[in-house]
Amino acid sequence: MATARPSTLVIFGASGDLAKRKLLPAIYELGREKLLPEKFALVGYARSEMSDEAFRAEFKQAVEKFARSSKSSVDQTLLQRILSAVYYHQGDYGSAEAHAALATKLEDIDKKHGTEGNRLFYLSTPPETFEPIIENLGKYTAGFGRRAGDVGEVKTDSWKRIIIEKPFGIDLPSAKELNSQLHRHFKESQVFRIDHYLGKETVQNLMVLRFANSIFEPIWNYKYIDHVQITVSETLGVGSRGGYYDKSGATRDMIQNHMFQLMALVAMEPPASLDAVSIRDEKTKVYKSVRPIRPEAVDQFTVRAQYTAGEHAGQKSDGYLKEKGVPADSKTETFAAMKLFIDNWRWSGTPFYLRTGKFLDEKLSEIVVRFRSPPLTLFQKQCDSPVYPNDLIIRVQPEEGIEWRINGKVPGGTMNIKPVNLDFFYKTTFNVEPPEAYERLIYDAMLGDQTLFIRGDEVEAAWAVIDPIQEGWRKSKLAPRTYTPGSWGPKESMQLIELDGRRWL
Ligand code: NDP
Repeated sequence: MATARPSTLVIFGASGDLAKRKLLPAIYELGREKLLPEKFALVGYARSEMSDEAFRAEFKQAVEKFARSSKSSVDQTLLQRILSAVYYHQGDYGSAEAHAALATKLEDIDKKHGTEGNRLFYLSTPPETFEPIIENLGKYTAGFGRRAGDVGEVKTDSWKRIIIEKPFGIDLPSAKELNSQLHRHFKESQVFRIDHYLGKETVQNLMVLRFANSIFEPIWNYKYIDHVQITVSETLGVGSRGGYYDKSGATRDMIQNHMFQLMALVAMEPPASLDAVSIRDEKTKVYKSVRPIRPEAVDQFTVRAQYTAGEHAGQKSDGYLKEKGVPADSKTETFAAMKLFIDNWRWSGTPFYLRTGKFLDEKLSEIVVRFRSPPLTLFQKQCDSPVYPNDLIIRVQPEEGIEWRINGKVPGGTMNIKPVNLDFFYKTTFNVEPPEAYERLIYDAMLGDQTLFIRGDEVEAAWAVIDPIQEGWRKSKLAPRTYTPGSWGPKESMQLIELDGRRWL
């Protein structure tokens, strides 16, 4: 494996949840896998008052609690080595003084730890902080307008990169605005927009499955595939995050990003090569081929709903509209389902059904590719139970793996047929726990490989599909449907697929 050049990672929002649960443990795991550069430093930046020592103690705790290998034991020697180059920088995100002081601190770190002026800035903060951080980074530390030599004695060929977390806007105009803010100070090649789904092994394996096995490609089209289902479900309600959630809703939170990425990887054409440009070109073409749902047709092709009072997975709620921070007349959906068509030669007429929601029966993320039935169902007459078509199920969580559901004869004198699974799960097949998505993504960003990150025009193309749906919902006379916690959503979501003679798996 390649090792990245010496570098410093600056995490904005280092006092936050994502940093503790995912980012700091990921750095430790990269160290364990020997994928961190020998010369590496980390600066946590946030508004909270904290000393370097206190931040190191938080880092240590985060590793002990959340690192995937900490279940066995934590390598204290390694951890101490990493911590010896960990610093904390306190400041407001929009403060010019704090950013100027950060620039000085980074130069000192370069001298002390030999990090050569290479910097990766990770914006792990709420979206309202993006603009002031980007502006100040552009001015003081990182923008392409500054030559590296402008900020002290650093190597002139040093790199500066920025990672940003979703949401990348809340609609097409705001996504364009964010892109232009970024492009005022960074070239697109310096921008790494994270969708952590792309860091998951199974998601990457989807491309291997499709393009490293010759059996799938000939049947991967409208002639043999009846439809595709993508489900991302969560078992908990919005809890105390109602105020934040109400501004986004299920479609913006899940469909526009994670689920569209899954859809694009299923639907895209084989890329010319595995480089970032070729893969991202093909994904963008998928979004551009999605048939727009006109605002007037929104109730025909989509379902939006809110959960009612109930209890599930140990959480009780008086209903979404009674959650703290949620306006009593909110129309924000906690569940969304939609039927999309990709109007190109491969997928003409093949529906893609997407559904996602909070407070649903099970926590899972999966893609179901349902094949057409054989032209003649020879066995159905002799069989007691229905003979189902084949399904290819790609499970992203909880157990990462792939299941191929075929029909098999039940042993005995009668002709009985049952679906049986040919499957592989990462844990059992490779006997390893797949790495956390953030490990792979931070590592790739340090190497400068953008393949698993989202390009600016890709984000905009995805919003162009979502915006008319949101407009339709705003104008629709139909109130959001309702569903009880612990169900699979409202009955209208069942009807969306069942009226087409199909069913959710
Ligand atoms: P937090 O809400 O924990 O915020 C991170 C830090 O930002 C806080 O510790 C706080 O630090 C600062 N902060 C919080 N609210 C504000 C505010 N209103 N104005 C300025 N600073 C604020 O977020 P997460 O760590 O959960 O997530 C970070 C980013 O990652 C978000 O953009 C989120 O959407 C995204 N994300 C998070 C995921 C997760 O699993 N948590 C998953 C996917 C994406 P301080 O006060 O010390 O400055």
